[in-house]
Order: sequence, then C-alpha cells, then structure tokens
Amino acid sequence: MKYIEEYRNPEISKKIASEIKNISKKEIRLMEVCGTHTTSIFKNGIRSVLPDKITLISGPGCPVCVTPVNEINAFIELANIKDVIIATFGDLIRVPGSKSSLQKAAAAGKNIQVVSSPIDAVNLAAENRNKKVIFLGVGFETTAPAIAGSIIFAKDAGVKNYFVYSAHKTVPPALFALMDDKNANINGFILPGHVSMAIGACAYLPFFKHYQIPSVIAGFEPVDILNAILMLVKQIETNSPELQNAYKRAVSYEGNKKAREMIAKVFCKTDAKWRGIGIIKNSGLKIRNRFVGFDAEKEFDIKITDKIKEPKGCSCGQILKGIMSPPECPLYKKICNPINPVGPCMVSSEGTCSAYFKYFD
Ligand code: SF4
Repeated sequence: MKYIEEYRNPEISKKIASEIKNISKKEIRLMEVCGTHTTSIFKNGIRSVLPDKITLISGPGCPVCVTPVNEINAFIELANIKDVIIATFGDLIRVPGSKSSLQKAAAAGKNIQVVSSPIDAVNLAAENRNKKVIFLGVGFETTAPAIAGSIIFAKDAGVKNYFVYSAHKTVPPALFALMDDKNANINGFILPGHVSMAIGACAYLPFFKHYQIPSVIAGFEPVDILNAILMLVKQIETNSPELQNAYKRAVSYEGNKKAREMIAKVFCKTDAKWRGIGIIKNSGLKIRNRFVGFDAEKEFDIKITDKIKEPKGCSCGQILKGIMSPPECPLYKKICNPINPVGPCMVSSEGTCSAYFKYFD
C-alpha cells in the first residue's frame, strides 16, 4: 500500500478482521505497549471487530504515566527555586504530586511555561539570561534525541542558563520487567511504532531471544494495528513465535542512526524507577559528564526520596502492567476523571484511563 488513506480503508480493515476471526482459536491477551496505540485502538473501535477470545491490554507506553510521584515532586520543588523557569510539555503540568502539581504551582505564581519543543526552551533561556530555565525531560527514545539536540545546541550557542532534568525511560528494558512479573499474562506484544523508528527492530532482539514471545512492531492506522494483530494471532495459533515488523514504511532494522547517535552522545544508561513497576535496570538515561553544566540534577540540590506512596486508591501501577483495566479501579469515574485526575493515567492524552473515559463508555 502506498497512501495513508489505504491504511484507513474500512474495507481492508474488515477483510483483516474477518481473517483474524477465521483463524482465532485460543484465548489470548495481547499488550499494546505504546500509549498512541491505546488511543488509536479506542478511536478506531478496534476491539469491537475482534473475536471475544482476543483481549487487548494496555501497557506502560505513556511517558507521563510512568514518571513516578517522587519525580513529579522533584519537578515541583525545582519550580519553587528563586529565578527558575520550568519549561515542559503540556500533559505533565496536571499530573498530581504528593501535595501539589505544576499547574497548582503555576497558579501560586511559579514560572512554568509549556513549550512545544526543547529548542523553544533553549530560546526561552537565551531570552532570559538572568533566570535559569529547566526543561523537564520526560519521554522515551522518541523525545530523547530532540532533548539531546537541545543540550548540544545550547552548548554551541553559549546558553549557560539552560538545564535539563533527565527523567527519560527506554522501552526494551521495560519489556523484560513486564515479562518477569509473576502476574504477567501476556501472549504477545504490539510493539511501539514511534520508539521503533528511533531504535530499530534490532533493538528488540535480546528481548525476543530471551522470551520467544510473539512480537510485532506496528504503525498507528487501523489497518496497521489489525495487520499486527493478525500476524500475532498467526504466530500464536501455529506456535511459531517471531519478531516481525509490520511498520516497514517507517521502521528499519537499524532505526534512525542520527537519533541513536544523538542519544549516545549526550546520555548514558542508568537505572530508572517506573511508576507501578519499580526500578528497572538500565532503563533510564542520564546526562553524560561532558554535558554536566546542563544537568539540572547536578546544578540544583533536590532531594528525591523513594519512600513516597502513590495517590491513595489509585491503581495506575496495575494498569501500566496490564493487570487491571480502568473500570476495575475503585476511583474510576467516581472520584477520578479528566477534570479531577487522581493519577497520571487519567491526565495524559495517551493514558489508558483517559482513553477509556473518552471512548469506552
Ligand atoms: Fe489512577 Fe484514576 Fe486511573 Fe484509577 S482511574 S488508576 S485513580 S488514574
């Protein structure tokens, strides 16, 4: 297929859905790892055309959702420092910390600015040399290259009042953690399209070799997703697991060399805490020593305590592992909704609870 319309064609979708129905025999649970897939699955009514035997579960692929509450608290603490401007992407400001949120901090007079790219944050710093601008680096391998680029750009341009708090996470180590969870009940993975564009299909090889679980990289249109599900069902029904790429028009085997080089130049691996999952070895990115002058963690004395609990009653941790679905959370719709979110899964546009709220009922 050549044009995007073909990937949205209802007749092609119906044909694939019917093929899935014809070959589907086993009860299976497939996890879409990426939050953009979650939203697309709801928006396009993918569940409604699948046989009851196939359950789609959402995973930890929303970067805002997996940012733990102690990091949210650290962001708010940074906002309280005199002469600091916090620059961030929009979703993050509404995520509740233990006692406040960036949105509440802004309402209390703290300088918090929503930007559409990290370069905008560097420009903000260049325009406000008497302030310190801290960009909150929350994201996966998709956003890390642009944030790495902003640090290089700031260094080259001599913008010394620009800092990044790196709370990045990387996807392949999280797949290991999901499979190692004794409650995991996953028969196959729909792997993320955007992240895979950066890291390439080859990045999943160690994971696939270790677990031999059906895994397919998918695009975001309905035909892309149904195709990936068909490929997974075929693998599962024939007991022949494979790592397949159903998004070849965007994802290569090696990924985006330039993006990978940018990440490697500015960041190195570190252990990272994921909301609901805990510490995952080598799943974070910290700023390399050669760029230490841009590292907000080093520049500002922020205490990040690990002992902070999740919001009372919030089941985001279980949701992010695919163990629960939002309607099973006792707070869903009763107390927690997009106007009054209790956990990040209800805040982010890619959050599972927010997608359920918007499309499901
Ligand atoms: Fe957390 Fe709200 Fe989702 Fe429940 S419905 S898991 S409280 S975000």
